[in-house]
Amino acid sequence: MSDKLHRFFIENLHVRGEWVSLKQSWQEIQKNSHYPDPIRNVLGEALAAISLLAESLKFDGSLILQIRGTAPVTMLVVQASSEGTIRGIARWQDNVEISTDATFNELFGAGTMVISVENKPKAGAQQGERYQSLVSLEGESLSECFSEYFAQSEQLKTKMWLAVDDKTAAGILLQSLPSEGADSNDWNHAVTLADTLSNDKGNDELRNLDAETLLHRLYHEEELRLYDAKSIRFECSCSQQKIENTILSLGGEEATGIIEEQGTISIDCEFCNTHYELDSVDVSRIFHEDAIANPIDADNNGTDVVH
Ligand SMILES: [Zn+2]
Repeated sequence: MSDKLHRFFIENLHVRGEWVSLKQSWQEIQKNSHYPDPIRNVLGEALAAISLLAESLKFDGSLILQIRGTAPVTMLVVQASSEGTIRGIARWQDNVEISTDATFNELFGAGTMVISVENKPKAGAQQGERYQSLVSLEGESLSECFSEYFAQSEQLKTKMWLAVDDKTAAGILLQSLPSEGADSNDWNHAVTLADTLSNDKGNDELRNLDAETLLHRLYHEEELRLYDAKSIRFECSCSQQKIENTILSLGGEEATGIIEEQGTISIDCEFCNTHYELDSVDVSRIFHEDAIANPIDADNNGTDVVH
């Protein structure tokens, strides 16, 4: 079973929207680490946010949101692909006590947030197009930071509401569409109704009601159109091939050195806990195959291989 994202349209208010609810994927992602509650919540918010953002941007590849913090959370990264898969992790200093009501700013300190789009390479190209935007972390919450991001980067008024617990990471996005007859009252009206999701009761409804029920509760007096669901699932993009490319980039000397010292090279994927282990036979094969495929690189042990 996968999770769901619905687009919707409030016709008379000229506002488009998206609703997402992550349950199974969110629970699978939490299994990889024992997150303290406040960190778990912000990771869930980031996953719901990236799912909403991925649906409103045009790209073919992956969309990545990365926050580098000072303390106690040092890194948070979430990724959504154009195929509807998501993954994410957070890393923190486990020697620091994290209070259960730590705020967004207390979690990241003086951090930076970067949103990047990495398109798949076009036929014949080594690398796809990439775009990056820096987002200020000066907000009380992730959704506030996003509001700031939208204000800077989108011409259209856009807002997001997020709600998370250990079972569900959910969110709603609204965006004002330019059209004849639309005025700011329409947008303000749509936002005022969605703002009722910000209190405890509303948060609860955002997490627990299905799209139809929740949107009916908010917009039953408007002309609302709800579109078919798109599925979202947890999937990691790590693979044996990517691990082998990483080993190639170490160079033959270093890879052989690790084998001599430790017997094997073992790598665990941080996103999905998959364990990869390569022995001396694997390492010889990887460099041998590379030497055949790239005869010019053979002398420098493949360190010029492009990934
Ligand atoms: Zn993985």
